[in-house]
Amino acid sequence: MVWVRESREREEGPSLLALLSGSERRSRGRRQTGRAGLRKRVRKRSGALFAEQSGTMLSGSSLIWIGALLLGLEALLTGASDFQHHGYEEMVRALFAVQSECPYITRIYSIGRSVEGRHLYVLEFSDNPGIHEALEPEFKYVGNMHGNEVLGRELLIYLAQFLCEEYRAGNERITRLIHDTRIHILPSMNPDGYEVAARQGPEFNGYLVGRGNAKEVDLNRNFPDLNALMYYYEKHNGQNHHLPLPDNWELQVEPETLAVIKWMQNYNFILSANLHGGAVVANYPFDKSREPRIRGKTTYSATPDDKMFRKDFNYLHTNCFEITLELSCDKFPPATALASEWLANREALVSYMEQVHHGIKGMVYDENNNPISNAVISVAGVNHDITGGTDGDYFRLLLPGTYTVTASALGYQPFTSMVTVGPAEAVQLHFYLKVQPKGTNSNMKGYPNKKGPSTAKIPPTNLGPR
Ligand SMILES: [Zn+2]
Repeated sequence: MVWVRESREREEGPSLLALLSGSERRSRGRRQTGRAGLRKRVRKRSGALFAEQSGTMLSGSSLIWIGALLLGLEALLTGASDFQHHGYEEMVRALFAVQSECPYITRIYSIGRSVEGRHLYVLEFSDNPGIHEALEPEFKYVGNMHGNEVLGRELLIYLAQFLCEEYRAGNERITRLIHDTRIHILPSMNPDGYEVAARQGPEFNGYLVGRGNAKEVDLNRNFPDLNALMYYYEKHNGQNHHLPLPDNWELQVEPETLAVIKWMQNYNFILSANLHGGAVVANYPFDKSREPRIRGKTTYSATPDDKMFRKDFNYLHTNCFEITLELSCDKFPPATALASEWLANREALVSYMEQVHHGIKGMVYDENNNPISNAVISVAGVNHDITGGTDGDYFRLLLPGTYTVTASALGYQPFTSMVTVGPAEAVQLHFYLKVQPKGTNSNMKGYPNKKGPSTAKIPPTNLGPR
């Protein structure tokens, strides 16, 4: 898998313009507090890419140079900006500030606590917070799994502020995203490790300081390893997704890992990214060209089921495709670098969320139009099925192309359809399944009928390093 850093043109053009407009605003009333302050600060995080879209982009390289000069001057004079690192208390305050700023489209919930008792707070964005709406996909971002890799945490806080403020400002693209998607943002999976790393600060941060949780366990190596099981099932034509966890797995993982696994079991996440390292500027796994800005770039085109997903716990245990973004060596950048990191990564963070709307989605009904829960959706030629939700809806990320898709459910006759997926919005494909005549055997693969012979003997599943 190749993550290509985006072109200089994109990093420098819009970013400098945005910084210019940011520095103008910054010179007026800085460090305000309260709701108005948040609004102003967040406003700054909106900027050139979106202004550019609405046709108000400044032109001329001289302006850019003036902007760069002003920015440098301003940085020299003030030495600080509103882009600061957020310790645990500040992070919690920032999330709750967004929630109170955008109460109708957000919700805060905790998925559990760290070893030292810090909450793992998630900020949710949706037009109906707290509710899964049929056919509306669930998306998640996870940051700061390694406590000393702090940029993802900061970017996700800025992203939350940005989404709220752009929604309030009537940004069409963001409004649409929030109306059509249920977005879950966990800025820090490892708040204990962060505090350890932050005590050292940016300049002295060693590679391992604060990487693990309070018990110095690397959370990225703490998920049950389902790969051996996967290979076994492949050989024996067993289930190819939603692999079971080993017995007593809850006792074998750290509380942070436990919380995240339970979270993944409770929500039918379709797409996800885990932000590691120091920067997340990246291309997306689903090559498409909806945005003219991106067209013509060297993008790596992976199918959603490319090998990159093979070892991913999300992929093996749930419906979720997750990518791990890990690029830079600078795990703990100085605060002065945060503004430009945000501007360089903002478009990627927004675009990646939009990728959840590709492929096919639909409902699986019985003959009386009642939704069938947990139906299995298989795509010919892709050895990875998807399980529908309890509301009968399913989502299947796919690249443009023509596919043969089968829906099956216990007690029903499978039904197969052909569908052509285009580059834009997900195609809706609904299934209506007939009840299986009595005395016949369902043709379903090992899943979800655990009594099938293919699942009779399963190898032990290992926890720990992989
Ligand atoms: Zn990492």
